Amino acid sequence: MRPTHAHRRAAHRLRPRGDALHDTRPAAPLGLTPTARHRHPSATLTMHEAVAARRAAGRETLHLGFGEASFPLPPSLREALATAAARTGYAPVLGIPALRAAIAAYLTRTRSLDTSPERIVVGPGSKPLIYALLHALEGDLLLPVPSWVSYAAHARLAGKRVISVETDPTDHLRLTPRALSAAYARARHDGADPRILVVNSPSNPTGGMLAPEDTAALAEWARSRGATLISDEIYAELAHGAIPHTSPARFYPEGTIVTGGMSKAFSAGGWRLGYAALPTSPAGGQLLGAVRALASEIWTAAATPIQEAAIAAFSPNPELDLYIRRSARLHAHATGRLYAALRDLRVPCPPPTGGFYLYPDFDPWRAALTERGIQTGLDLARHLLDQWDVAALPASEFGERPDALRLRLATSLLFEPEASAPPTDREAWLRALLERADALDDTPAEPLPSLPLLERAQVRLTAFVESLGPL
Ligand code: PLP
Repeated sequence: MRPTHAHRRAAHRLRPRGDALHDTRPAAPLGLTPTARHRHPSATLTMHEAVAARRAAGRETLHLGFGEASFPLPPSLREALATAAARTGYAPVLGIPALRAAIAAYLTRTRSLDTSPERIVVGPGSKPLIYALLHALEGDLLLPVPSWVSYAAHARLAGKRVISVETDPTDHLRLTPRALSAAYARARHDGADPRILVVNSPSNPTGGMLAPEDTAALAEWARSRGATLISDEIYAELAHGAIPHTSPARFYPEGTIVTGGMSKAFSAGGWRLGYAALPTSPAGGQLLGAVRALASEIWTAAATPIQEAAIAAFSPNPELDLYIRRSARLHAHATGRLYAALRDLRVPCPPPTGGFYLYPDFDPWRAALTERGIQTGLDLARHLLDQWDVAALPASEFGERPDALRLRLATSLLFEPEASAPPTDREAWLRALLERADALDDTPAEPLPSLPLLERAQVRLTAFVESLGPL
């Protein structure tokens, strides 16, 4: 049969085009996609590994660069995990039913949320769950600046545009409906489709919390635009007490997804156990189906023994309530002391009200820093690491401009005894600290033994600021 025009056109379409046609080299293996080529590992994990390498090389380093709750595991959870060690089968994709029921009841008990076990998804940490949610939900992401390092990366991996929402630098980086409306209008004008908002209270990186009336206002804003609100509540249990934690799901249950897990409140990041609570509506059911499909193709299920042990974590237990309360008090104590030192040095910083972060701004010393060749937050973080052996993360990792001179300081690893203490002493030391935490309310000045790393952090930050000269 003679080739027709249609045959020739089809053959032409199938031939390689342009450069590829003339390139006679064989293709190289292990080529990367453009997305993978431009990805960096998470800044927090990179810093954590850099500190480990410095320490291995004998360089003492104060680690304020990684937010890892590190109190010893509550004994009942340790026992629960030991009992479940032989559970080697796969768990259901959405999680063990008893765990999903325990988490739903926990959210009702502790946050007055109206949720149901059928809408709980359990995963290997809340991080992959947030990624899966961003994959499944339509629309672009409205992201307050500053925000935790991974949200923007997740959104971009999911093919979304990220729309920055300004927070108010004169009001402790507060997020307001007015700023959301401005970002929303700008995004629509630029052809984006903003339909998802992430909020995180207590906040990483600022250490601040949304006041209940702000939470209500943001929820109302999201409802008025039909936006999906993802409320990352991983630090909810670590509210310091001055501001009550309030979930936006209380005000906007049909449009809010709550995420959380065991990493911060139970000091069990390495267990990799997180959850998402989806709305009880039919739309929540469809989203659940989409997340389940993604999870089934990527991670299958969180580890079975961990899920079994997590049932104990989320079930009512006064021992665990006490453990969480004490952890929160200690975190409040460490952030409070470092905050007071920074305030005395006149370093602007939002007052910490939850979690274990501080977000000081060294902009008042910009001229002195520029003289030393420090122009960006990254320069500043490098300087602190090289000259003062203090690890911290620059604001640019949290969505701010490179020249912002803010740093995120994590205080969670400052309770450790001296690095030279043997591991058994370390655990006994941290358990003793937890027991003494109750007294912090009554006699704030003296109940704790000296905390060598916290004191060293105060001394070094003070020496660093004083080295810049007076304001
Ligand atoms: N969300 C925020 C704001 C965090 O800081 C972190 C951990 O650092 C996570 C989520 C991730 O938590 P998980 O360990 O549950 O994945």
